Amino acid sequence: MTAKPVTPLVEMDRAEVIAGNGFAGQDILSVSQFNRENLAYIFDKAQAMRALVETDGMSDLLRGNVLTCLFYEPSTRTSASFIAAMERLGGSVIPITQGVQFSSVSKGETLADTVRTLEQYSDAIVLRHPEIGAAKIAADYAEVPVINAGDGAGEHPTQALLDLFTIQQELGRIDGLKIAMVGDLRYGRTVHSLTKLLTQYDVTLRFVSPEILRLPLVVMNEVIDAGIPVRETHDVADVIENADVLYVTRVQKERFVDMAQYEAVKDQHEITIELMAHAKERMVVMHPLPRVGEIHYAVDHDPRAAYFRQVRNGMFIRMALLAAVLGEK
Ligand code: ASP
Repeated sequence: MTAKPVTPLVEMDRAEVIAGNGFAGQDILSVSQFNRENLAYIFDKAQAMRALVETDGMSDLLRGNVLTCLFYEPSTRTSASFIAAMERLGGSVIPITQGVQFSSVSKGETLADTVRTLEQYSDAIVLRHPEIGAAKIAADYAEVPVINAGDGAGEHPTQALLDLFTIQQELGRIDGLKIAMVGDLRYGRTVHSLTKLLTQYDVTLRFVSPEILRLPLVVMNEVIDAGIPVRETHDVADVIENADVLYVTRVQKERFVDMAQYEAVKDQHEITIELMAHAKERMVVMHPLPRVGEIHYAVDHDPRAAYFRQVRNGMFIRMALLAAVLGEK
């Protein structure tokens, strides 16, 4: 549904694809590194990656490159899509994902030492870590590019790229849209990153959450400073009729210290087919996944449910990003 014609990667000038638009050799730590121009570049390349996967399945663009995926927190989609992205571009992966507890990390090795070790084997490191700012610390020590795949309740920049790309793919534009974010806006790092990216566009934002899970003030201030029309509410019913995008999130159980507080808010927002009946005919429901009940399974059959298409877009975005970061040595 994109406005731009797609040039398959196979027909593209290889040098142009790997030029990376300034990303070559760079760490990817925050969405603040992206502007409308380089987002357009990544989205264009992601479209080319889609064409590549759908025609040839893979290429040898990153042959000879090795990526380490170092995940200190559980992950399904992010780790799998980075692995798929790297392998579809002919590179290979050292996956330290589900097994960090079996590695030297469990012996007390510092993050600094772990990354300085792993970079001896690889050309870039993708890092997920429970602490805000961990990716920045890793990047300070590593010589190779570090890509932030989620730092605690901080940011998740590559998820935000795929979220924004999905909005553009589904609705053909980003400017002019009314976007509602629902759920755990306090601890949901994907919400923080996507919100920050959206401040570069002409959008209207609505934030729906339980009182204790409102968007952090520092992110809200960025929205206000950008002059974006914004409103907060506790009820999805207040936003459902006007929303073009309903971005639903899971209440982040692992960030709660007091489990009674988690229990009190975990089921506050549920997207049902009854609720969807009030939504626009052309809107999209998104979710970074995993879901734990906040979108009913019955909604999956609604063509407006975009969350599994969103997952697939993640692979194309990560292919584009890896090509940009690793393509030029
Ligand atoms: N998968 C996303 C993340 O890692 C969302 C979530 O876990 O709820 O932040």
